[in-house]
Amino acid sequence: MTSSSKQFKRTLVTSALPYANGYIHLGHIAGAYLPADIYVRYKRLCGDQVLYIGGSDEHGVPITLSALRENITPREVIDRYHVANEEAFNGLGISYDIYGRTSWPLHVDTTQQFFVRLEESGHIHTETVRLWYSPKLERFLPDRYVTGECPQCGYTGANGDECEQCGAQYTAEDLLNPRANVPGDDSTPVLRDSRHWFLDLPDFAEQLEAWLDSHPEWRPNVRGIAYGWVHDLRARCITRDTDWGIPIPVDDEDAKSKRIYVWFDAPIGYVTNTRQWGLDQGLGEDAWKDWWKDRGTRMVHFIGKDNVPFHAVIFPAMLMGQEGYITADQVVGNEYLNIFNRQTGKSEKGSKSKGNMISVRWALDQLSADCLRYYLCAIAPESKDSDFDWDEFMGRYNGELCDVVGNFVHRALTMAVKNFEQAVPPEGALDEEDQAMLDVISVQRDAVAEALENFRFRQALERFIDLGRKANVYFDQKQPWVTRKTDLERTATTLHVCCQVVHGLCHLMAPFLPEGARKLAAILNIELPAGGPDGGENIWKRAGDFLPAGSPLQKPEVLFPKLDPDAVAALAEIHEQGGAL
Ligand SMILES: [Zn+2]
Repeated sequence: MTSSSKQFKRTLVTSALPYANGYIHLGHIAGAYLPADIYVRYKRLCGDQVLYIGGSDEHGVPITLSALRENITPREVIDRYHVANEEAFNGLGISYDIYGRTSWPLHVDTTQQFFVRLEESGHIHTETVRLWYSPKLERFLPDRYVTGECPQCGYTGANGDECEQCGAQYTAEDLLNPRANVPGDDSTPVLRDSRHWFLDLPDFAEQLEAWLDSHPEWRPNVRGIAYGWVHDLRARCITRDTDWGIPIPVDDEDAKSKRIYVWFDAPIGYVTNTRQWGLDQGLGEDAWKDWWKDRGTRMVHFIGKDNVPFHAVIFPAMLMGQEGYITADQVVGNEYLNIFNRQTGKSEKGSKSKGNMISVRWALDQLSADCLRYYLCAIAPESKDSDFDWDEFMGRYNGELCDVVGNFVHRALTMAVKNFEQAVPPEGALDEEDQAMLDVISVQRDAVAEALENFRFRQALERFIDLGRKANVYFDQKQPWVTRKTDLERTATTLHVCCQVVHGLCHLMAPFLPEGARKLAAILNIELPAGGPDGGENIWKRAGDFLPAGSPLQKPEVLFPKLDPDAVAALAEIHEQGGAL
């Protein structure tokens, strides 16, 4: 049913470019970044050719507004958040091959090429529209520069062209009771004519529909939103009255005071960053083309659901209007991660104004990357919204990862190290239970792989924990701590089998919990060399291989230290007081 990744030569993975206008938070991570990273790490272990592209989205009105409010330049805003967010991603182990910037000069070139090609082939036209203008500032007020009452729901904090409350999109002149929303200006704006450039999306309706039809395997949420758009396509304005952005590559007086709209240039950032990656690697100017213009490449976008129209309709149309570009084979759209409010007992949306979000940089000051990754994958909002809940966070991490996997690994390795000269014990005659336990390792390996290939990350993680559960059952049946006093050969066989399970667990945890896997690999004296864009050996398969008796073991350390309830309660309190930003 699902289009198999096997039919492709290489995989290009992208995660939505976050705005360089705020610190990245855990809600972002659960949606577009952690699942992508797990997938990429798994692919690298399989030895597949895979390239993971990310970066900052550095244009757009929120950035110039922040600059105005802080009385600094837009450049200072993006420099601050680009650096901070790249650090946060690194700290969490999000393993991009490149983390680029849409403010790079190379991006002007890529974006203008896209624009020119669309214009030359007749897919862009100009239209004069009525927009809000501030006589006081003598400028137009794009998007959030103006605020007013939503014509659909009456919300009074609606933006110039859309309402955050109800999601309505409208033309500027439909906004009721508009006011300028700029530092130093809250006057009533007037409507004025402004000529803008529009992308003729209806030109691509048939092609888009055929493309969506060819992907029945996509998640229903993505398909639902995408079909909704494709059945109601309109020309879309792709320029704004601003001086912050990519210049419009046309010889036209009206274009001088305008820039290309951020939503046109942002996804093109994936292409720019691939180009820059090729240059950085010394692979030449055309290296990126293998990833964007070869039918052997499978492109997979990871995004939050608010990004579905752009990645499943608009950007694909822009790609279809170019020469020789591929379009995505998968668009993995996630729902939202909300916050569970312990005071009200209710789930609430994370929002800047409520101050209830948890920034990655704050979280990493308090907690390990692995424990955050574990919980965020366990509750990944794949088919519906989910909640970040501090009690559940501690319960699942301590009760599943620590108690099931961590505990088994520790018990098994400690006994092997102590009783069998710090090495994998010799295997005697295997009984049925031993054999069954050994067989389970590759069964679980394949089950985890199957879930990952189908972008079911929660299920993949559960199947990894399942191997730990089965191992605990086996360990308790065999009672090596009892047989140690009566039957050393039996004990050796039991622990030999346990060491093979530990070896399997080490491979299986690597995509999800890179730090734990690194520590465990060191204890087992094995290497987990993950391939990269060129591919490599299939290390994932080795999860089912066996360590020979006598292989040296290091003294085990605790892979996943348990969280202390008082410490977690203190963190929850700081968060509730708005201190986790
Ligand atoms: Zn509304």
